[in-house]
Parts: sequence; structure tokens; C-alpha cells
Amino acid sequence: MGTENPNRPNFPARPAVTPFAAQQSATPFLSSGSVVGSEAPPFRPVSTASSQFSTPPFSAGSEGPAFRPPPTSRSNELVRPPPPSASYGPPSSGFQHFPSPQMPSTGQLPPPRTSFTGQPVVPMQTRPPPGHVSLPSQPQPPSVPMGSPPQSIKTGQPNMNIPLSADQHFLPSRPNAQASSPPMGPSYATPRGTFQSAFPGYANMQPNSVAQAPTMQPSSFPLQQGNYGPPAPSTPFLSQQRGYTPGPPMSTPSGLYTGTQMQQHGIAPPLANSQGLAEDFSSLSLGSVPGSFDAGVDVAALPRPLGGDVEPKTFAEMYPMNCSSRFLRLTTSGIPNSQSLASRWHLPVGAVVCPLAETPAGEEVPVVNFATTGIIRCRRCRTYVNPYVTFTDHGRKWRCNICSLLNDVPSDYFAHLDASGIRVDMDQRPELTKGSVEFIAPAEYMVRPPMPPLYFFLIDVSASAVQSGMLEVMSQTIKSCLDDLPGYPRTQIGFITYDSTIHFYNMKSSLMQPQMMVVSDLDDIFIPLPDDLLVNLSESRSVVEAFLDSLPSMFQNNMNVESAFGPALKAAFMVMSQLGGKLLIFQNTLPSFGVGRLRLRGDDIRVYGTDKEHILRLPEDPFYKQMAADFTKHQIAVNVYAFSDKYTDIASLGSLAKYTGGQVYYYPNFQSSIHKDKLRHELARDLTRETAWEAVMRIRCGKGVRFTTYHGNFMLRSTDLIALPAVDCDKAYAAQLSLEETLLTTQTVYFQVALLYTSSSGERRIRVHTAAAPVVADLGEMYRLADTGAIISLFSRLAIEKTSSSKLEDARNAVQLRIVKALREYRNLYAVQHRLTGRMIYPESLKYLPLYGLALNKSTPLRGGYADAQLDERCAAAYTMMALPVKKLLKLLYPNLVRVDDSLVKTEEFDISKRLPLTIGSLDTRGLYIFDDGFRFVVWFGRAISPDIAQNLLGEDFALDYSKVSLSQRDNEMSRKVMKILNKYRESDPSYFQLCHLVRQGEQPREGFFLLTNLVEDQVGGSSGYADWMLQLFRQIQQNA
Ligand SMILES: [Zn+2]
Repeated sequence: MGTENPNRPNFPARPAVTPFAAQQSATPFLSSGSVVGSEAPPFRPVSTASSQFSTPPFSAGSEGPAFRPPPTSRSNELVRPPPPSASYGPPSSGFQHFPSPQMPSTGQLPPPRTSFTGQPVVPMQTRPPPGHVSLPSQPQPPSVPMGSPPQSIKTGQPNMNIPLSADQHFLPSRPNAQASSPPMGPSYATPRGTFQSAFPGYANMQPNSVAQAPTMQPSSFPLQQGNYGPPAPSTPFLSQQRGYTPGPPMSTPSGLYTGTQMQQHGIAPPLANSQGLAEDFSSLSLGSVPGSFDAGVDVAALPRPLGGDVEPKTFAEMYPMNCSSRFLRLTTSGIPNSQSLASRWHLPVGAVVCPLAETPAGEEVPVVNFATTGIIRCRRCRTYVNPYVTFTDHGRKWRCNICSLLNDVPSDYFAHLDASGIRVDMDQRPELTKGSVEFIAPAEYMVRPPMPPLYFFLIDVSASAVQSGMLEVMSQTIKSCLDDLPGYPRTQIGFITYDSTIHFYNMKSSLMQPQMMVVSDLDDIFIPLPDDLLVNLSESRSVVEAFLDSLPSMFQNNMNVESAFGPALKAAFMVMSQLGGKLLIFQNTLPSFGVGRLRLRGDDIRVYGTDKEHILRLPEDPFYKQMAADFTKHQIAVNVYAFSDKYTDIASLGSLAKYTGGQVYYYPNFQSSIHKDKLRHELARDLTRETAWEAVMRIRCGKGVRFTTYHGNFMLRSTDLIALPAVDCDKAYAAQLSLEETLLTTQTVYFQVALLYTSSSGERRIRVHTAAAPVVADLGEMYRLADTGAIISLFSRLAIEKTSSSKLEDARNAVQLRIVKALREYRNLYAVQHRLTGRMIYPESLKYLPLYGLALNKSTPLRGGYADAQLDERCAAAYTMMALPVKKLLKLLYPNLVRVDDSLVKTEEFDISKRLPLTIGSLDTRGLYIFDDGFRFVVWFGRAISPDIAQNLLGEDFALDYSKVSLSQRDNEMSRKVMKILNKYRESDPSYFQLCHLVRQGEQPREGFFLLTNLVEDQVGGSSGYADWMLQLFRQIQQNA
């Protein structure tokens, strides 16, 4: 993120345009929206009738809505299609229509074809059995077309372009409502699940052998290092006591219950104990006299997250069987028992979920194959079996922890209970002992064969793309990653390039060289050779390599500056729509030709500060959001790589990534000499990281609470089903929780995240994360159990969403106001009682909240006004931040700053955790510092730095303009040490690559641009410094206190 060129003018001369011409309601950052929010329409089937002929690719029986009635005609009404809008699909004769394209290459057009044959996997239009939409006893998700939707390209009209023959072989298995609860049989066999490592299918694995992976020894799943044991029948939460010993009931903070307490349904939550809580807050002296601020603040005493993200421990201590916080974090693990309590907290109650977070070696998510037993789920709410279910009736029944229904234990899954009521096979059942588990999904969880991993590239080859070197770096990188693309030998690949025309490439394996076909009729896009544009990588490997080798030179003299991006996007859609997959777009210019062309906008300074300002941050043309909706419907995730030095309307382009679960990579003013390592690394990461395909995610929770808004890069497919055509470890999603009107009477609320996906090896899997949290009746407990990282993650997403409907200033004020209200409420709880009226007090758990709030307001999407960040940069940063996992986001908001010169002259290992406050006061003119926000490094050379250090690191370059100098390893100890430190930082989080910028003290505008504006504790421009911010908050907290 961020511009790499400080000399880039902030006020480029652009043609004056009318920026409000295309006002519309799409809000690119807004992903909440319940039933009929902005997300709903794109997923609506084309008509009520047609919806009956389409089956969601993930069995209706699989991710059924919790506590929701089966879809009936009413739910079909809910998913009524939008009125036919601008149609961008191919004409109905599209595939039969072959105008004479320019054919500079050897491409020979085949006779017209009417079907895509020859694809290894062809999703069929599926016709579910009658009665599919209403199985009375099994809640089913609304019947919504995804993956292989029928009449979708032209709204409301049968699409004749994609023949969908009803090949029996590919007909989906009928969602079998009974599968998960077969009748009890006489046999008490207890088949063992086979456990495999998650994410098989990468190049070094044999995909087909994975399913037969050796059964792991039961001992491989010890009960979490002895911290807890299997639940005893009478006290299923006994295990909690092993890791945490609560005090006597009255002195126990209400969030911590003994097992016995938790078993006793109906007891009143323990009273709050303010005495215990008093130890949990901190206070800060802000002037000797209340109301007097002149005395100032002891800046050194302000709290700073120099240790990075600190995850609250209480959650895991209370419930050792919970999934790891890397997968799920709650903004407070004290769930309020009433709406009024929740509203008094003022901070969002919700969760941040990173379903595929990377795990350290040894902590992989166990994989369970129930094989013929079927996956054990609650008959009513569809919760997956988990460590918090309890077994009764001699092991014949199990009680659902989310809805309390007593379910039959299928005969295949039966196990006797021991004397204490624990299943005798408990230690061999990860699903009953681990908070995270992955189930192999049987046939009823798919309506088409699992798709192969598919990578399609849409590449701008106009003059600037070639001249910047982007094309060359990209081609080389893709070629170097071919061995590591997931899913060998099923992986599919294809390419389209474009300038003012669109170029298709026949990659048939029998060819020596790819054949290029040029289509210049942009109004009537058709796909030549539909069978050979998307090929199996292993079969066509040599053709693909030949293409990538020749691509840069093919266009090296291209003077074409136009971009037929929209038509090319439609072409890519037509090629990919049968299978789905990942579409990687490399865009170097503003789309200028054909449908989806965009205008220069956003430089009208008069718009800023008015209520029209936010429109600049919205997609200009509804074409983009409509395309995104269709991509998602067809299981296509879009990643946008943007490179221009000029305005490219990232707001519009990025919405393609936003609504398809994708990602925006922004390299403003890309120059190969400067940015190639960054592009190489990030593209390689994108291509080779573990990816889950054609996924949907749902978060279930217990009665009385429900998730009502969702925030991140995705589309909602129904009220609570998140559609993710592709998802990986670098994506997180946030959701807000609402309480029902009635008081929560249970002691515990359970959450279960279920991600149903296709692995790169072609298995359907369900990753399930389960967690429990205590219900509290006391506000103090909510504060005590708060998680600042999760709160800030939710805050950031809410604030960014607000910038798409409000002024930047309003979004910032909203952040500030919520912090003020929360701390005011806290103050009201304790200040008078503890005679702390002249001090600012805050819970220990939220001590970094004000600083992160300040940092959020200074972040690229929210900072300042017109001149403080380029519009494209703001939008790119916003799209990026919407998807960031908690730790990554916190590091971006409050980056690392470390001093390294001392360690260069010493022998001991550098301690990379020695972070400094982000203020200019931390910088010594004799020092060498590294600033790392996870996206870039800034290496700052003090003016009085030892010449020895400068020379060792930069050689003769040390005297040059640092914009022309790059850091590379030289043959001396100091240089090796610095490079080692940088590499350590890079390795600690490989999701992005930090490009290294050198800055000399006083060298402007570089120093200001790269470092000073990012020292969030300092007052820069119109923004507050940390001390000043705390005074403002304190003043506001005291008002109406
Ligand atoms: Zn249930």
C-alpha cells in the first residue's frame, strides 16, 4: 500500500470533469446489509421459476440456515431478481457469431461451436429433485444459483450461450437430509476418522493419495497437553477448571464459572465484583485539576502497544477447547445478557474471523473423515458436532450446544460412555476435543464435481504496461510459479491480453506455440476457440511457458495507449464462467474503450468537505458491481493488480475484488527497477498460497444472539451466508452481533464458524471452528474481557464503510465518538467510586484503544482531506484494510520502529522486538532506524550517523540522492546484519512484501512522505498528536459525565 514516489504530485492537472454524473447507490466498502442490503440483489436468481431449477453448488443440506424455516415461496420472493438492467452478457448468438477478427498470428478459427466440450469438468445446470426447496424437517438455504447458475448472463432470459447438457455423470447427488442422522442400528461399530493434514493438493503432494493418508495414531490428538480432559457427563465443563481455578463464587468475576455453575441452568449470573475489577483499570493523569488541561500530559506514560498485538488470554483460559484466536476473536468475550447492556458498552459486539489462518507447525487443523457415517450435525440448527456437545442415554443421544436439541447418535458413530459419562473413544475424536477441525464432505455437500484450481490472467499490454516493465516482471513471475500452483495435475490456466483490442490465446497442448486471436469488435464480444483458451496446465505446460517467454517481446513496441478493459473483462468471464476460479487482472491505465470505460474524476478539490465527497470513493459505473455479482455467482474471485502513475479509478476497479472475495494490489507508478521484488513476491504469494475454492461461510451462534452485519470483501448470498469464490489465509471477515429483545438466560454462548469449500486437491471440506464465551450481566465484565485488536478490526471496517457514504471527517468523528462514549461509560462506573475524577481512566483491556483509534483516523483511507492522500491510494488502502487479519491490521496502524545502529557494531543478535514509540522524539540524529508497517520498510539515516555505517551499507552511494539508492547486501558484516534484520521482518509475515525506502534526515519531501507523516503519535498537518488526542478525549469524556 502507499505511493512509492513522494515526488508524485498530489494535485495532478487533470481535465475538469463533472464528478457526480454517475451517482448511484453502490457502496464499495459496505458489506453489511442484512436481507435486502446492497449485497442481496446480485444473488437473486433470475426469477422465481428459474430458481427452482438451480441448485446451490453446496448442497442444500449442508450449510442450512440456523433457526430459519426452509425456503418457501416466500423466500423465493425475497430473492426476486432485480429488474433487468444493463445487460453485458454476450448476445444470444455469441458463440455462433464469428466476425472477422484481425488475426496477426496463425490462429485459425474453428467452425462455430455451440458447446464447451472438452473441459475436464463441466458443471451442469442442475435440476434438483422435486421438493428440494422445502424439506419440512430440514432447514435449507434459499435456493440460489451459484457456481453453475442457469439463465444468468442475461437477466431474466434463458441463456442459450452456455449449453448445459444434463450429463448424468455430473448430476449432483441429491442433498440427503437424512445422511447425517442415520437410524440407530444394532451395530455399535465405531469407525475411526482418518486424519490428514489440511490443504492437500500442493505440488509436492499426490492429490489422489491424500484421501488414503494413513490414519494417525490416536495419540496424535492428546487433549491439549493435559490442560483439560474430556467432559464428564455430569459436568461437561469440568475441563475448564484444569486450566483456570476460579475463586469462590462471590469473588469470581462473572465471566468465569465453575463447571458446576455452568451446568446449573437458570442460576442468576454471579454478581459483579467491582473490587476485583478495580485492578483491571488503569488511569492517566491529565492535569492536576479536573477541567484544567494546561498542565499537559506525561507523554512518556501514555500506553503504547510496543509489544504488538496482545491477545487476551482469558478467553482461552476459560474455555481451553475453544478454537485458537488466530481463527476467531470476539470484541469482548463477555457476551452481554441484554440489549441494554450491549448498548451501554458503546463498542461493537462482534467477531473477527480468519477461517484459514496459517498455523504454526504442529498445530495444523486435524482432518476428520466420517466416511459412510456422514457428518454429525444437529438435526435442527445444523451445528456440527464439536467439543461442547454432550452425550447422554448411554451414548445413544447427543445434545446440541447451540440449540439444545437432543439428537440421536448414528449407529456408526456410537461409542459407550465410561463410568463418568465420557465417550470411551474421546481421545481418538478430534471433533470432540478440538475447537478447530476439518471434515471431509461427502457427496451431498456438492452439486457438481469439485472444481479444479483455475488461474486466469487478464493482462493490459498497452504502451505503459510494457514500458513500466510490469509485463516482463509479471510474465517471469507467473512462469516461475508454474510448478507451485496448487492442484497439480488438475490445475487450469488461461490468458487474455488487451489494449484497444482483445487478444485470445489458443493453448492447446498439441501446439508448439500459442496461437493468438485478436477480436476488435468490442460491442459484440465473442469467444473464439472456447475449448482451448482455458487449458490443463500440466498438459499444455510447454505452450504456456512459450507464451510467457514471448509475451513481453510480443508487445515491446506497442504504442497503443487505450484500454478495452470492460470488454476484456466480459470475455474473461465468458471463458471462466463454466468452472469458476481466480481471475488476476493486471491493469495499467484507466479503462478507456467499450463498456465500463471510466472517466478522470476525483481531482475536484471543491468536492471535498461536501456531502458529495464520498461519491468519489464509489464505483462510477454500475457495470463493475454487476460484473462482480456475476463473477461471484460463477465462483470467480478477482484480484486486481493496478500499476498506473495516473488516476485509474481504483474505486471502480477494486469493487471487482471487493465483491468477489478478492484483493487489490496497488503499485502506483510501477517501475520495474524499483518495484519488481514487491510485485514478484506478492504475485507469487497470491499464486501459490493455499487457496480454498468455491466456498461459503456461515457463523452460527446460540439462541438469543445473532450476527446481523458482515464486513469485509465478499458478497452475502442470503442473510448470513458469505459467498467466497476463493479464500486464503490472508483474508479476515468481521461481523457484528445483535441481541434479541429477551434477556439471555444461558450461561454461555457458543459460536461456530463453518467454511465449506473445495480444496485444491479436489476434496469438498468443511472447516469448523467452535468457541464458547460466557454471558455476563455486568458492564465491567464486558470491559474486562474486551479485545482491542478485534474491536479495532471491526472499527476499521465500519469506518471505511462510512467513508463510502459520508465525508472523511464524519467517519473520523464517528470513531472518536465511540471511543469517548465507551470510556465515559467506564468512567461513570468507577471514577467517583475510586476518587479518580481528575484522571482519565480506562480498562486495562482497552488501554491501547485510544491510540489505535488515533492511528485509524490517520490511516490512508481516513486521513485528512483532498491533499492528504491520492484518491486511488485511499481506495486501494481501504479495499486492503477491509480484508486484513487482526495482527496485520494493527501493525499497519501502529508500525514497528526500531533502532539498529547500536547492534551493528555489537556482536549480539539484534532483538527485533525492541520497538520504539512512533514519534520523532524516538529518532536520534546519530541513529539508523527501520520503520516497518508490514507493507513497506523505511530505513532512516540520522544526519550525524557514523560515516562508517553509511558507507558499509551504501558504499559510494551514501552521498547520493536516496531516491536513487537501493539497499543491497554488501560484503561486510554491517550490511549482512541489516539485510538479516529486514529478512526477519519479512519472514515474520509473508503476506505482503516490504519494499525498502531509504530516507536521510532532513531530505524532503522523502522524509516527510515516507516517515514523518506516518509517525502517528506526532501532530502532522491538521491531525492531532497522541497527547493532544488524549486531552481531547478526556475533555469529551468529562462532558456530560
Ligand atoms: Zn442444534
